[in-house]
Amino acid sequence: MEKATDVFVIGGGPAGLAAAIAARQRGFNVIVADGSRPPIDKPCGEGLMPDGRAALAELGIFVPEEFSHPFRGISFVSGGLRAEANFPNGCGIGVRRTVLHRLMVERAEAAGVSLLWNTPVKGLHEDGVLLGKEIVRSRWVVGADGGHSLVRRWAGLDRYRCDRTRFAFRRHYRVAPWTDFMELHWGPKCQIYVTPIADDEICVAVVSHDPHLRLDAALPAFSEMISRLRGADVSSIERGATTSTRMLHQVYQGRVALVGDASGSVDSITGEGLCLTFRQAQVLAECFAAGDLRRYQQEHRKLARPPAIMSRLMLTLDWKTSLRQRVMRAFNSDPRLFGGMLAMHVGVLSPLDFAANGISLGWRMLTV
Ligand SMILES: Cc1cc2nc3c(=O)[nH]c(=O)nc-3n(C[C@H](O)[C@H](O)[C@H](O)COP(=O)(O)OP(=O)(O)OC[C@H]3O[C@@H](n4cnc5c(N)ncnc54)[C@H](O)[C@@H]3O)c2cc1C
Repeated sequence: MEKATDVFVIGGGPAGLAAAIAARQRGFNVIVADGSRPPIDKPCGEGLMPDGRAALAELGIFVPEEFSHPFRGISFVSGGLRAEANFPNGCGIGVRRTVLHRLMVERAEAAGVSLLWNTPVKGLHEDGVLLGKEIVRSRWVVGADGGHSLVRRWAGLDRYRCDRTRFAFRRHYRVAPWTDFMELHWGPKCQIYVTPIADDEICVAVVSHDPHLRLDAALPAFSEMISRLRGADVSSIERGATTSTRMLHQVYQGRVALVGDASGSVDSITGEGLCLTFRQAQVLAECFAAGDLRRYQQEHRKLARPPAIMSRLMLTLDWKTSLRQRVMRAFNSDPRLFGGMLAMHVGVLSPLDFAANGISLGWRMLTV
């Protein structure tokens, strides 16, 4: 094994692989070490919005049609009302997490990244990282070890602002998707996300503030879902994860930079976590090339702001049922409003258009 490299990435999930590929694209030698073996699974809504697909394509990764399912927009379902809109910039796709991981690993290998699986990193060293008792020297170190990042702590970057943590459980069902939207069902105490991922399979996740609320207990409050899933085989085990919006004070220290969930996160309700991660990876590689991590700090903050605002808006709708129903009625009476919100979400609307859309929504809410 090499004892020195340009970039050492700790964590081989989507963020670590994206950071590794982006750094290779700029000519750096890159090693990735992960404590697990691929394909690595993780509870996720498994929806990739159009902007996330574009960011993935910049890394040279294209998800083949036979391993994914397109959706043309987002649908909100709440209290008997439904609001839906198409993305203004193409389709999103549902893709099994393990499939996405496999494709990213293949791309990293093809790009010439050295991948070390089953290799947990034990600590940082002033010249690089510690693999067991061995020191691997590295010009740059990337902490991509997820939401519970140890690298964050080792590097003294563990200061952050965090919204209330929510708990998610995800399972797959063998059933033909009934919709070509990614659906978000709002219930009294939780939300259910439905993502079509194949011609005969969907991903269903429940998210709530209750760490004990599993899918079987949550579903009876959603009569439409119950009838859709009646008779469908469960095709994966139920897996849990936490989700929150977390903003770090700083995302780099010396030669160490954080990326992906290690560097902060947006609540899963946005469906933007992966897109954000892929974009951070590109910016980070540019900053390595320029030898300037201060710019990474600034760009990281800029990238995180829009999904963080959106997540706050959507979580306000979560706990204020009467407000949510008012918004749903406004969306229903003028579908362009929901389309505008979605366009902003996927980065197509300008701040001016956004403000105009907000004023129109406010007016509709007063008048419906
Ligand atoms: C319920 C839920 C639904 C979501 N839905 C969506 C969605 O629909 N669309 C979307 O875009 N995003 C979604 N997200 C967000 C998305 O899943 C995350 O943003 C993404 O997984 C972040 O990837 P990551 O690589 O930063 O972290 P992870 O996927 O957690 O990877 C971290 C990796 O680091 C490794 N590791 C940890 N410690 C060490 C160590 N010491 N040494 C070596 N390796 C180590 C782990 O083994 C792991 O492989 C969702 C999240 C949740 C919780």
